[in-house]
Amino acid sequence: MPLSFIATTYSLVNHDFEFERTLETGELVFSGHTIKDYNASGTATANIVVLDKTEMDNYAFLSHEFTHVYQYYDFNVFNTYLNKPLQNLKVNYNTFDKVSNHLYYDLQGFIFYSLFFSEIQNIDCHYHNFFETEAGYYSNTIFCN
Ligand SMILES: [Zn+2]
Repeated sequence: MPLSFIATTYSLVNHDFEFERTLETGELVFSGHTIKDYNASGTATANIVVLDKTEMDNYAFLSHEFTHVYQYYDFNVFNTYLNKPLQNLKVNYNTFDKVSNHLYYDLQGFIFYSLFFSEIQNIDCHYHNFFETEAGYYSNTIFCN
């Protein structure tokens, strides 16, 4: 919450849940027909992977998007900085305390995506940034030099 919840809800409404791929990989996987409209074969938002229906058996694309999910998880450490402010909110607001017992706040996405999008500004190749280079390296999907 909130980024994973938003990404999951959006994907549930707009894409097809891939039960088999989800069980195989341990990550939530969806598929759709409109992914290529965004000039991509897949996307990873928070911990959600969405692949184009025609690319569901393309393990290079799957591993590329999973690398982005793992990059997102790498920033979990920043959530520990929320412990003290969240504890203060729990003490002062009873409803927040009750809701927080059932939620994990994944606010690292704001840091991760700020860095991610700052890396992709003014580049002449999609892979000329740290995050895409890492994903491309581990999935053998780097298409430019
Ligand atoms: Zn990528």
